[in-house]
Amino acid sequence: MKSYDVIIVGGGAAGFFAAINIAELNPNLSIAILERGKTGLQKVKISGGGRCNVTHAEFVPSELVGNYPRGEKELLGPFHQFMTGDTIEWFDKRGVTLKIEDDGRMFPVTNSSQTIIDCFLNEVKKHKVDVLYNHALKSLKQSNEQWLLETTQGDFSANKIMVATGSNPKIWKVLEQLGHTIAQPVPSLFTFDIKDERIKGIPGVVALDVEVKVKGSNLWSEGPLLITHVGMSAPAILKLSAFGAIELAKRDYKFQIEVNFIKQSLDDCLDHLKTLKQDLARKTVLKLAQFELPKRLWQKLVLASNITHDTRWADLNKFQTEQLALQLTKAVFTVDGKSTFKEEFVTAGGIHLKEVNFKSFESKLYENLYFAGEILNVDAVTGGFNFQNAWTGAYIAAKAISK
Ligand SMILES: Cc1cc2nc3c(=O)[nH]c(=O)nc-3n(C[C@H](O)[C@H](O)[C@H](O)COP(=O)(O)OP(=O)(O)OC[C@H]3O[C@@H](n4cnc5c(N)ncnc54)[C@H](O)[C@@H]3O)c2cc1C
Repeated sequence: MKSYDVIIVGGGAAGFFAAINIAELNPNLSIAILERGKTGLQKVKISGGGRCNVTHAEFVPSELVGNYPRGEKELLGPFHQFMTGDTIEWFDKRGVTLKIEDDGRMFPVTNSSQTIIDCFLNEVKKHKVDVLYNHALKSLKQSNEQWLLETTQGDFSANKIMVATGSNPKIWKVLEQLGHTIAQPVPSLFTFDIKDERIKGIPGVVALDVEVKVKGSNLWSEGPLLITHVGMSAPAILKLSAFGAIELAKRDYKFQIEVNFIKQSLDDCLDHLKTLKQDLARKTVLKLAQFELPKRLWQKLVLASNITHDTRWADLNKFQTEQLALQLTKAVFTVDGKSTFKEEFVTAGGIHLKEVNFKSFESKLYENLYFAGEILNVDAVTGGFNFQNAWTGAYIAAKAISK
């Protein structure tokens, strides 16, 4: 049996980040990463469309936590210890410069996730961390203050272990057998499948700032909305999919949404339309998009309001005006299923947060057992927040483990 001071199970974002920090904080410890794959960091590789959205330019802990449907309360303390600014500095010190995009997402200036992977691989080599690929953890037990790990390539022992296996149901089972509780996994960060004449044939059209509500619930969000070949996407939808992950799963992803494309009340919109009737009386309604909406979307909404191609503003009757106001402010769409958002997806669910000490990311059930990353019942909206959770948990656990 091979022994180490510290074994990290899972060579993903959290696992590598933890191993490097432990090695740096305490160079005397022998450390190994056990990774089931023939390479590690596979999600880092494909993340952010291959660019790796490392974190998000939000520097206030109380604001940052608002992006975590699960973990909001628990991450506040940890973010006071290690958050965005620390992430930027950490990478900068190791030669990786991050840049901020207009929407706040942060990427390596190289626009390549390989930069992050190369950084991690250099660091583990420098600090002599053993990275053992093709080693899948099968079982785990504690005996005489030692952790015993059975893997597909033999047994290991360690004083302290960190389990950072992401959303792996098999490892959740192993931890359940140890007495931990697992919040049932459901997908988060997905797009909505919608078949509707109003969005048919206009993929790529973006309404810059809309409000979306899920009918029959308190779920709502706002932000950009993208029309796709199969439905709707972009932050306004992805935020709903994250905050509504559990509720929408219960509804089997069949529900209705109400979209306010112009973020005005129905009455304000009607007033605005009355003014337009006077100002643009001789112009056709269809031709000139209003409310800063993209032309193709405007035309779809106009046609859905019983207004014909050649109707002029002056000729709009009361019914048509009301229909148009409704389409602009309370357009109801039927969602029938979900699709994967290619740039980022996560699983809601994982180790119950009440069983983890968030000062150290140590299990409250067992000493010297630590967790970080997606294995916990923490997940975030899209934008770099999921990795920030991995970096924060891994760093704080590393501090505790290295003592
Ligand atoms: C397509 C995609 C794009 C994404 N893009 C972004 C993004 O741009 N920004 C962002 O913030 N988040 C992004 N995410 C989410 C982000 O990748 C995860 O939140 C993050 O990787 C979680 O890190 P982790 O270390 O907890 O888990 P992982 O990165 O999943 O790593 C877990 C590791 O454990 C290994 N493992 C599992 N079981 C065992 C076992 N039994 N024995 C040994 N090893 C095991 C796995 O092989 C894996 O290498 C994306 C996710 C996806 C799927």
